[in-house]
Amino acid sequence: MPKYSYHYLLAASALFFSACTPSAARVLPERNTETDTKIIQNEQEYLDQAVLKQSTASLEYSLKETDPLKLITCDREDITVTTEDHLDLSSAGEQEITYVLHFNDSEREVKKVFQIKDTKAPDIRLNEQERTIEYGENYDPYANIVSVSDPVDGDLKRAEGEESAGVYRIEGNVDSSQPGTYELKVIAADRNGNESTDTFRVTVREAPAPEPVQAAAPAVPTHDYIANANTGKFHIPSCSSVNQMKESNKVYYYDVTRDDMIAWGYDPCGRCHP
Ligand SMILES: [Zn+2]
Repeated sequence: MPKYSYHYLLAASALFFSACTPSAARVLPERNTETDTKIIQNEQEYLDQAVLKQSTASLEYSLKETDPLKLITCDREDITVTTEDHLDLSSAGEQEITYVLHFNDSEREVKKVFQIKDTKAPDIRLNEQERTIEYGENYDPYANIVSVSDPVDGDLKRAEGEESAGVYRIEGNVDSSQPGTYELKVIAADRNGNESTDTFRVTVREAPAPEPVQAAAPAVPTHDYIANANTGKFHIPSCSSVNQMKESNKVYYYDVTRDDMIAWGYDPCGRCHP
């Protein structure tokens, strides 16, 4: 512990000691039977000289309730201390408790202030710190959040608007049509404004190389042919063999390919080379 902290504590407790109980500033007489008897003859004065000391002036925010009587001690054992007040630890801030010191039929009220402090920030749990997605893939950054919870407030909800307390949000976004690495920041704040952050990265892969476009097959030229049903040859219409064919043997084909004719069982003529 650094040196100044110790001095600070001493100074703080001394200040606190005198500020909360003005009567404590007085120097009390040494305890002996004679003086005690003398003081007790004046009950009010005896009460006024009693010192009520807080064991702590600061408590951690929680859902519990605590007994204010457990947080103070009185330097005189024959004085009874009571209180009607409650300390609500689920409400951060200052709370004043009124204690009543009783001695026989006399009473004295002493007020003490407690600070309820929320020092615990929410806990963010992510599925993964790094993620790589495909170009164009749908990606929801909120799906990476396993939970965001506060030790006292419990699970925090995703922010719907601009609110910042008691919620979490993700800053940044991922554009899967733009390859690269994106950093996203999760910001969570409990109801008392204690903030936690965490970050994760999403990398969008480069777009896949475009498929090579298949060159369109050259159109196969079509022709008109005249086949000979008798010989099984086919000819271009101007072939001299066509003139020698009987009309009844001629089979006319229009707009067909050479391959079609061969597939249908014909042979190309050796003279006109169709
Ligand atoms: Zn021919």
